[in-house]
Amino acid sequence: MTESLLTIRDFCVDYVTDEGRVRAIDDVSLDVKRGEILGIAGESGSGKTTLVQALLRILPPPAVISRGEIMFEGKDILALEEEELRAMRWGRISMVFQSAMDSLNPVVTIGEQIEDTFRAHNAKGGRDRAAELLDMVGIPGDRVDSYAHQLSGGMRQRVGIALALALEPSLVILDEPTTALDVIVEREILQEVRQLQRKLGFSVLFITHDLARMLQVSDRVAIFYAARLAEIGPTNELRSNARHPYTRGLLKAFPPIGSGTEARDAHSIPGSPPSLRNPPTGCRFHPRCDQARPECAAREPHQTTLSEGHKADCILTD
Ligand code: SF4
Repeated sequence: MTESLLTIRDFCVDYVTDEGRVRAIDDVSLDVKRGEILGIAGESGSGKTTLVQALLRILPPPAVISRGEIMFEGKDILALEEEELRAMRWGRISMVFQSAMDSLNPVVTIGEQIEDTFRAHNAKGGRDRAAELLDMVGIPGDRVDSYAHQLSGGMRQRVGIALALALEPSLVILDEPTTALDVIVEREILQEVRQLQRKLGFSVLFITHDLARMLQVSDRVAIFYAARLAEIGPTNELRSNARHPYTRGLLKAFPPIGSGTEARDAHSIPGSPPSLRNPPTGCRFHPRCDQARPECAAREPHQTTLSEGHKADCILTD
């Protein structure tokens, strides 16, 4: 079995409010292996972004980590001192945001912005390395002196990827990195990220609400629902044998890209995710589940291992 780069165990995050604690991550355990792409999908409020913020130790108050462990490259992230955290962020774990294309400095060339990254982390690298990184992400190296406004949206997002790869991290987090782009550019960029990831060997945590896009590039997929992990497994296994009704619902809502029948085949899941202030009893998905039975509202499902690496949290499988 491939070695784990990142291990999250029994992890809980609460938002402390005047009305009490609201659990935003509820008892989540998962791994990211070296050299793989793990996709995390779920609707808004499912806990995806909170998990990433916790991983980078940038959770905004009033969020608090109430339980659990995060180990990365053998180190306990929750115990790192500020200096160690600074070295880890960007140096070992970097991130491409949805807004990366809009966060470039308009008055500094893209090459200088990459060189600034080297300088900020006391890393080796100058103009030639900046050009090399641009070339690697599909921008001709001779555009190193370009400004952001001289580039298309897709090229600016590629600069965001070059910045994320500048210090050769072992984990790159992609947080909805292509949502603002048109579908052709989106597909190209994700294919390029996949090729780079294969070539350079880093791992990727790919966060999105778009399961079809995720299935195209991920080795494994984790499905979050209402702060919990509903299902996790190898991509092919989930594509052909998803066991949690929520995963099946997402698969219907995002039919395979390229089939030419996407719009006709799409079926949205009825209803909307619950408020985490007052989540449903038992299985949190039961008010929306087309296979719910009385038992589902009465008790919480147990996580069941269905095959190697494939787990689901549903009464139908436990
Ligand atoms: Fe549906 Fe019940 Fe399974 Fe929840 S436990 S997903 S309500 S069948």
